[in-house]
Amino acid sequence: MRIGVLGAGQLGRMLALAGYPLAKTFVFYDMSGSPSAGLGEIIIDREGEYLDDLLSRVDRITYEFEHLPVGIAEELAKHKPVHPCPRALQVCQNREAEKTLFGELGIPTPKWQVADSADALARAAETLGCPVVAKSVTEGYDGKGQAVLRDPADAANAWAAIGHHRLIVEKFVEFRREVSIIAVRAEDGAVAFYPMAENTHHEGILRYSIAPAPSLSDAVRADAERYIRALLNELNYVGVLTLELFETADGLVANEMAPRVHNSGHWTIEGAMTSQFENHIRAVSGHPLGNVAARGLSCMINIIGEHGDIERILELPYAHVHLYNKGERAGRKLGHVNVLADSYEELVWRVRNCAQFLPGCPEFHSSLTARG
Ligand code: AMP
Repeated sequence: MRIGVLGAGQLGRMLALAGYPLAKTFVFYDMSGSPSAGLGEIIIDREGEYLDDLLSRVDRITYEFEHLPVGIAEELAKHKPVHPCPRALQVCQNREAEKTLFGELGIPTPKWQVADSADALARAAETLGCPVVAKSVTEGYDGKGQAVLRDPADAANAWAAIGHHRLIVEKFVEFRREVSIIAVRAEDGAVAFYPMAENTHHEGILRYSIAPAPSLSDAVRADAERYIRALLNELNYVGVLTLELFETADGLVANEMAPRVHNSGHWTIEGAMTSQFENHIRAVSGHPLGNVAARGLSCMINIIGEHGDIERILELPYAHVHLYNKGERAGRKLGHVNVLADSYEELVWRVRNCAQFLPGCPEFHSSLTARG
């Protein structure tokens, strides 16, 4: 079976790496002009002119990148199965549509309003109560196109800094930690949930994911599974879906969803019986899902900006290095390391030992290292 992947970055690369053992072949469709997947065939099509070419070469289509025109996915879906459905893409591209859908499905969100001018932003900050987070309704990722307002008087500066005509303004959530749940739904509607991950961000970019998330109550896990199941069913979704959440004293609050394999699921490559990448390929191809159980405890460390001393990390018997074959650039995701352990105590020690070889890697902080 030939799988067309819209987008050609590291997620596509890892999808292909997981798909080759199942005898899948891959064609990547890139609109950015700078594909990095480095595997399979690549169609570079900045203007959306070569859809027929893609369609002629593949049996099924999926995506690894959600910032592409929904019209392209819709057009492709008229001819070949596109999983997940283009509606999932549409919802994820627009924070207003996403938060509205969450509300309709009973998934808690921060209180939010929309602002289409600096004055409206100031009014929203006033009504919601500062601090608030303003985000461009479309096109934002990894904390880009966002600003925190500590006072409604910050509105003019925040509006200018974000530079977008429509913003979503959210009440700032005083979270205990950030977590994510990754689920996969098969063509026949079967659903599986990976153990949840605890995620630590630095400068808007994910740095560490620990899975299974330590000290997560059964009730919280059940809530997360209920929320993501509601999304999967509503969207008649096929493939891997990720839901990013804040854990607060009063339970979970949803931040956003991603209609694809996710950075907070990279630990599954060695840390789960079946990786998120393989399960996505299985789902998209119409196969049964694989076992999502954890093999032990994992922590994923992102390699950002600089590669650091990879040779030293390769010497560590508990570390698995994944490089994306990309050039160094500040803030760029170049790879990740999966660290495995049998106890959380051992995991903390191993993660710190590994992180020392990654320049610029922030000190490892998580619920496992929090004092008191
Ligand atoms: P996003 O692009 O929406 O995933 O936001 C990036 C990061 O900003 C999140 O991972 C959080 O660390 C932080 N953040 C976003 N929204 C909020 C919020 N409403 N309250 C507190 N922190 C937030």
